[in-house]
Amino acid sequence: MALPIAQPMMSAADRLASVRGDIAAAAKLAGRDPAGVELVAVSKSRASDEIEALIAAGQQEFGESRVQEALTKWPPLLAAHPDVRLHCIGRLQSNKAAEAVKLFETIHSVDRLSLLDALVREAEKARCTPRVYVQVNIGEEEQKGGCAIGEVGKLVDAVRRSPLPLAGLMAIPPLDVEPSPYFALLAQIARRHDVEGLSIGMSGDFKEAVMLGATAVRVGTALFED
Ligand SMILES: *Cc1c(COP(=O)(O)O)cnc(C)c1O
Repeated sequence: MALPIAQPMMSAADRLASVRGDIAAAAKLAGRDPAGVELVAVSKSRASDEIEALIAAGQQEFGESRVQEALTKWPPLLAAHPDVRLHCIGRLQSNKAAEAVKLFETIHSVDRLSLLDALVREAEKARCTPRVYVQVNIGEEEQKGGCAIGEVGKLVDAVRRSPLPLAGLMAIPPLDVEPSPYFALLAQIARRHDVEGLSIGMSGDFKEAVMLGATAVRVGTALFED
């Protein structure tokens, strides 16, 4: 009987080094400084011990999609690791703004004035200033979060008039199509509005995103699964 072949398991540190290496290689190809690309580890649906392993390997930026899940999982992790910063990458309801500003250092999903107003109000109360990205519905899809392309200027101006720092533009391209044209389009819109930051790229496409100017990539699967 054949013995089971031992599969070499990649550790969290191996996966982190591999993703960082890919970011560095893509940045180099594009003539960019890899230090200009923030890696956000997307920890939605991951258990605390998996997250701890990445923190132990040196990862400090984490992203969650849901306020409720983040609230149940993160307070003890943040208390144990004060240098770790949490990013909100999912759709946000205005009635969660108070919790969001306390929990998240960066919010990638601001896509309407009413949400921005709620965040500004709650941030003032909580005496904090989370950075915000304006999320753009870059594929103009019905069910997708993000503002219409024609509304970017209005939202960017509103963030610039607010006390919250503008981190840049964020987008999630349509599924199952080549994402690069959408990344390029978002970069063009950002230039038009003098915006520097671009939150684009996930496990399947972060190298392309870095080559097209990503300043933040949001990577889940490639950091948490072999
Ligand atoms: C889940 C998620 C990611 C990470 O996706 P992976 O393919 O697992 O890397 C990035 N951005 C957003 C907005 C997500 O919801």
